[in-house]
Amino acid sequence: MQKIISLCKRRGFIYPGSEIYGGLANSWDFGPLGAQLKKNIKDLWWQYFVVNRDDVIGIDAALMMNPKVWEASGHVAGFTDPLVECKECHQRFRADHLEISKLKTQNCPQCGGILTQPKAFNLMFKTFIGPVDNQANAVYLRPETAQAMFVNFKNILDSTRIDLPFGIAQIGKAFRNEITPGNFIFRVLEFEQMEIEYFIPASLQGWEKFFGDWQEQMSNWLKFIGINSQNYAIREHAKDELSHYSKRTIDFEYKFPFGQKELYGLAYRTDFDLKNHEKHNVLGVNLEYTDPQTGEKFIPHVIEPTFGVERTILAVLCDAFEEVEGGRGEGSRQEKEVVLRLDKKIAPIKVAIFPLAKKEPLILKSREIVKNLRQNCGHLPNFVIAYDDSGSIGKRYRRQDEIGTPYCVTVDFETVEDQSVTVRDRDTMKQERVGVGELSKYFEEKFNK
Ligand code: ATP
Repeated sequence: MQKIISLCKRRGFIYPGSEIYGGLANSWDFGPLGAQLKKNIKDLWWQYFVVNRDDVIGIDAALMMNPKVWEASGHVAGFTDPLVECKECHQRFRADHLEISKLKTQNCPQCGGILTQPKAFNLMFKTFIGPVDNQANAVYLRPETAQAMFVNFKNILDSTRIDLPFGIAQIGKAFRNEITPGNFIFRVLEFEQMEIEYFIPASLQGWEKFFGDWQEQMSNWLKFIGINSQNYAIREHAKDELSHYSKRTIDFEYKFPFGQKELYGLAYRTDFDLKNHEKHNVLGVNLEYTDPQTGEKFIPHVIEPTFGVERTILAVLCDAFEEVEGGRGEGSRQEKEVVLRLDKKIAPIKVAIFPLAKKEPLILKSREIVKNLRQNCGHLPNFVIAYDDSGSIGKRYRRQDEIGTPYCVTVDFETVEDQSVTVRDRDTMKQERVGVGELSKYFEEKFNK
């Protein structure tokens, strides 16, 4: 983990938040490469689950909602984790993470002191609107994006022509005052979720089929972004572990260096949310759906696939990280070298262009190639091109390998003569000569595949 964290800082993926002020525990800032990687993942997810489907539509809702939403959803009463505190060292723990026996007093894993009895700790961050800090002005920062999809259910039905089954998708920030944040970006206080609430006919008691379909689609997505299926496993939630709204939940658990932990979740939320919002909404809005064929009215049930953005990034980095003993050749110094085998689609930089020497004709030619590629390949999604003319060519290759750039293009003295360049593939290390005039088509094929 330390190797990944230091690579992230050194190369500009992820920095500790507020670093020059001593940091803010468990906050992280995405640097130039991290921001691009995050954008690539979110854009691909949106394309995969929203743009390419007829049955899913997207929304982008406000972060702060009327506090009554969180009462109706059960979050004010029930979005809690069991908190225990050591009476000696005052370290806090999540009782469910300590596997505390309900019958026995447990000792602090840090100092051996006596722990307090578990107490329900609400994870929602509270803030106040306007100048007066009183309860009447209190609002919560949303702890999940899901509720906005339920609260807008009627608006979606009225403003679109969509029929069941259909999904509402959203990507956005969520905030949780976690008791034990940590493990780099795995458990943080503010993070992004990519969620779908998939509404299904209640009358059709076939939620298991939809659940199975979504499980398959989530696995396909993981394959699509290059995660090795050997590196994650599915875990079924036990009955006493299920959230207050769920009848069945499974977790996709990734084998992180610090243990096998939840990457994504898939839950059958029944009609819990829509029913509650129908009961509690202050306008008395009916949240039933009318079947266009039969005229039957009912509250749909919901399957919820949920994906954390930060955990996707961490899984992708862990999956792609490889240390090559003895280096990769090309003038390497026979030590360990890192190659980040990111899938081409999510790599933050797609192509790096190097002039072999810092000489004017090569620099000019390289700059011209960058300009042409930007113009001709501009339609490819997030097609970021880097130009690098500093250090030996071996060093430049290593730098790009470390950040996962799939292709490097070297402009040499022959280029000026024969109008061709050397393209080097990150994974196979194969080099081939490609005509400058063919380069756009070459990359178009590589990235469209
Ligand atoms: P955990 O058991 O790890 O606390 P959870 O079951 O509470 O997670 P969900 O409520 O299912 O998580 O949230 C949906 C997704 O949001 C998770 O699968 C995860 O990818 C992401 N997520 C949840 N909490 C955090 C967090 N504190 N930091 C980063 N990502 C998170």
